[in-house]
Amino acid sequence: MSADGLYARLGVPRIINAYGTNTRLSGGMMAPEVIAAMAEASRACVEMHHLQAAASRVIAAETGAEAGIVTSGAAAALLLGAAACMARLDPAAMNRLPDATGLPNEFVVLRSQRNMYDRALRAAGGRIVEVGIPDRLSGPGVRDASAGEVAEAITERTAAVYHLAGGNAEPPLPEIVRVAHARGVPVLVDAAAQLPPAENLRRFIEDGADLVCFSGGKAIGGPQASGILAGRRDLVSSALAQMLDLDLPEDQFVAPAEFAALNQLRFLPHHGIGRAAKAGKEEIAGLIVALQRFATEDPAALTARWTARLAALRDAVPGAVLVPDGAKPGLPLLELRFADRTAAVRAEAALRARDPAVHVDASRIRRGVLAVNPIALDDDDLPLLAAALKECCA
Ligand SMILES: *Cc1c(COP(=O)(O)O)cnc(C)c1O
Repeated sequence: MSADGLYARLGVPRIINAYGTNTRLSGGMMAPEVIAAMAEASRACVEMHHLQAAASRVIAAETGAEAGIVTSGAAAALLLGAAACMARLDPAAMNRLPDATGLPNEFVVLRSQRNMYDRALRAAGGRIVEVGIPDRLSGPGVRDASAGEVAEAITERTAAVYHLAGGNAEPPLPEIVRVAHARGVPVLVDAAAQLPPAENLRRFIEDGADLVCFSGGKAIGGPQASGILAGRRDLVSSALAQMLDLDLPEDQFVAPAEFAALNQLRFLPHHGIGRAAKAGKEEIAGLIVALQRFATEDPAALTARWTARLAALRDAVPGAVLVPDGAKPGLPLLELRFADRTAAVRAEAALRARDPAVHVDASRIRRGVLAVNPIALDDDDLPLLAAALKECCA
C-alpha cells in the first residue's frame, strides 16, 4: 500500500488493475527481487555496453538466440530490429536512418497481420509492402496469404519479412522462414504478447526467426518500460549500435565478445535512431532478474497462484466462471456473463466509477462478457475487488 502514499501525494488516483498488463493501465507489478535489482543498479555506474553484454548472456540462455539486448519496450525492439535489417553493419546507413535512400527498406507484411504496432517499422524508415487477402477473417472465403505470395513479394529492396506471432497466424512461421531464407532475407517477429507460456521464449527462434521482440512489462514482470530484442548476433549488434550512446573517441570503443560484429564497423556511428528509445541501467537490471524469474518459475505454480486469486473472487458474483484464456495457455480468467451488452456496459462503468476505480477486461463487452485477469492484481486488493464485483455485477 506504499504506492497509495506516493500516488496520493502526487494527486494521481490509484486503480485496481483487473484488466491485465495493458500499457495505458501502467502494466503490471514487479516482484520484490526485480524492484531490488533496479534499486541496486541505481546505486553504481557502469558502461552501458558492458551491461547490455550481461543482458545478452541471460537473454541468449533463456531464448536460445545468439544474442539479445534490452530495449525500452517491444515497440522499441521492433523499431531497432527494423533499423538493423535495413542498415546491417553499415555505419553510414545507421547515420542516415530514418532516411533509407539506397537501402533495402521494404518490410513484407501479411495483410491479416497489419496492426497498430507495425508503425515502428515505418518510424525506423521502413516501407510496408502488404501481401495476401485475408478472406478467412473477413468472411467470404477460407484463405489467407500463401507462402508463395510472400516469396513473390521479396525483391532486392526487401529488408525483412515481418511476422506477428499468434495462434491465428497463417501461414505458420516456419513456412515464412523457409521462403524468406531461400531468398536471403531475415524474418522479424513481433512476439510482444506471446507470453505465457514461458516456452514461447524459445519457440520463435527455434522456428527460425532471425529477430524476435518481447515486451518486458507484460507477463515477464519486468519494468513497464522494458523489452527484449533477441536473435542473430550480427543483427542484434547492429540494433545495439543504433541505440548506444557512442559519443566517445572511436579508438576507446571495444565491442564486448557478445557483440563482436561491431568490431567490423568501418567507423563508429553517431547516436542512432534508437536513441529516442533508450533503456536505462535500472530497466536493464530489472528485466534481467524478471526474465530469469519468469523463465525458471514452475508454470503450474504460476497458474495455481493466478487461480487462487480468482477463486477468492468467484463467490462475489453468482454465475461467475473460471475459464482458461483462449490465447495464453496457463492463464485463467474469471468470466462475468451478463444478459446483454447493455448490462455489461453498465457494470463496467460502475466498476470504473468506484474509488479506487476497478478496470476489468472489457475486450468482449460486445458479447456481454467482462473478465477479471489476475496477472496484474495485488493480493492485498482482493477483498476490495470482491466487494466491488459484488456491488456492481451481482
Ligand atoms: C504490447 C505490444 C507491443 C508493444 O509492447 P511495448 O513493450 O509496450 O512496447 C507490440 N506488439 C504487440 C503485438 C503487443 O501486444
